[in-house]
Amino acid sequence: MAPAPPPSPADALKQLGKEIDSSIRFYETFSGPFPFQNLSVSQIPGTFGQGWPGLLYVSTYSFLRPEAQQRAGLSSAGQEHYTELVPYHEVAHQWWGNVVAWSSYRDQWIDEAIANYLAVLFADTKKNPDHTLHVWLSRYRQRLVEKLPDSNDAAGDVGPLILGTRLNSSKSPTAYEEIIYCKGSWIIHMLREMLRQPGARNPDARFTTLLQMLVTKYAYRALSTDDLQREVEAVMSPGMDLEGGYSMEWFFEEWVRGTGVPHYRVEFTARHTEKGYQIHGKLFQTGVPRSFIASVPLYAAGPGRGTLLGNVVAAGPETIFQFVAAIAPRKIVVDPQMTLLCTSE
Ligand SMILES: [Zn+2]
Repeated sequence: MAPAPPPSPADALKQLGKEIDSSIRFYETFSGPFPFQNLSVSQIPGTFGQGWPGLLYVSTYSFLRPEAQQRAGLSSAGQEHYTELVPYHEVAHQWWGNVVAWSSYRDQWIDEAIANYLAVLFADTKKNPDHTLHVWLSRYRQRLVEKLPDSNDAAGDVGPLILGTRLNSSKSPTAYEEIIYCKGSWIIHMLREMLRQPGARNPDARFTTLLQMLVTKYAYRALSTDDLQREVEAVMSPGMDLEGGYSMEWFFEEWVRGTGVPHYRVEFTARHTEKGYQIHGKLFQTGVPRSFIASVPLYAAGPGRGTLLGNVVAAGPETIFQFVAAIAPRKIVVDPQMTLLCTSE
């Protein structure tokens, strides 16, 4: 057997340079043209990384090959994080952080969440089945609903995004990371899903309009959570208007200024009629305040991700629904397409 080739830092650099270049092209489709003359990339020791205008400091870990990452003590989740996300998250900060700034620590989540979500979308384009959008989203959801070490609280219950770094305490030393990156990415994902127009030439046109509007209107200015809400309201669709009055107050109150991840359970009966199967059921919502509302997609279990029956606006602990379907569902599944941050049984 031939001995393993010696490590080649120059090759690793070239490869990373190429990937960073393709991430820039990818982000331009969402955020508009790259905002600076050039971009230099440098490594910096340890887990730290930061992007300055035109300069990226990327953690040494991101430059290591998998074997070296393992020797450095990174878990496999840590390796994936440093290889797949960190460098590209920092690239996305060229727009989100360096052009669009945040108003105060209460608004910092916006730039982190958009940068991280775009990095996840970029990872998704590489078509590696272990790093798809849905893989990252389910990991993030898991991290939000599982109990923190030595605590009875799940990260998703510790506090709202608008507490920023104050989320960290002796009781929850990692809460900032969990909430800002995991929940923040989910929030941007939910906005994108709600703005999506399936079947359109560019199903993400409205989401892209939102991002580009933010980049131009808030260039070298501070963006606040209230500003973001107003800008979302400017592009929202009728389906997002759960409360009436063309307001996204409900969404920001629940997800940004509120805590908790809803859990859903469905009970139903199906009765054969002349028009097909009449499905009557109840959607139970727990884990969030009574006032919590959400548009919950319900699917009849079946091949692939099943068949959409419709969306039920869950309002409070118990919501009644009915559908007519051609076939009696064996089981009703909650949101198999992962458009809503929730758990279900
Ligand atoms: Zn960041």
